[in-house]
Amino acid sequence: MAMRCPGCGGKAFTVQRAAGGLEAAVCGGCGGMWVSVQRYFAFLAERESGDQSSPGPATPGEEAGADSEALKLCPVCQKFMRYYPVGHGLVFGVDRCGDCGGFFLNAKEWEALAAHGLETRLHFIPSDAWQAEVARGLRTAHDAESLVRRLGAEDAAELERVTEWIAGHRHRDVMMAHLRERLHLPVHG
Ligand SMILES: [Zn+2]
Ligand SMILES: [Zn+2]
Repeated sequence: MAMRCPGCGGKAFTVQRAAGGLEAAVCGGCGGMWVSVQRYFAFLAERESGDQSSPGPATPGEEAGADSEALKLCPVCQKFMRYYPVGHGLVFGVDRCGDCGGFFLNAKEWEALAAHGLETRLHFIPSDAWQAEVARGLRTAHDAESLVRRLGAEDAAELERVTEWIAGHRHRDVMMAHLRERLHLPVHG
């Protein structure tokens, strides 16, 4: 049975060498990329042996954009894949089939991973540890955003600078005591 693209439903796949030498089935319709677990581990093994067939400079310019939320079906198993946000400053996520372990990436996502040095970490992205880290990052980004919204960019940046300075200072306790006194803060904490 022909593979059906999880991205666009197309059936015209060609095997291509992507950035870094990864072999993958690329959809002629949307440019999406199906990476079977066998091909991914072959790529990792090749990487480790230092036998890099043209690491292919990641093409700058067009960055991978945010994904749609639509659930995708594994082109091999026809089961729903799970979506895992990448984090690390990238706005997209990757879909993985829990059955066969294959990954589906939208066009340009592999190149974006490679540009961020994450192309050898793809198999870690679905892990609990990685996803917990992504969730923490989102929380921090959210806090920073709300600070900017309330204070304005300039004051938020200044507050952040002062906070970092105090947090890393060897006389942090003296500074905190001073702030408490000057700002009439309660002494606990
Ligand atoms: Zn497609
Ligand atoms: Zn599958």
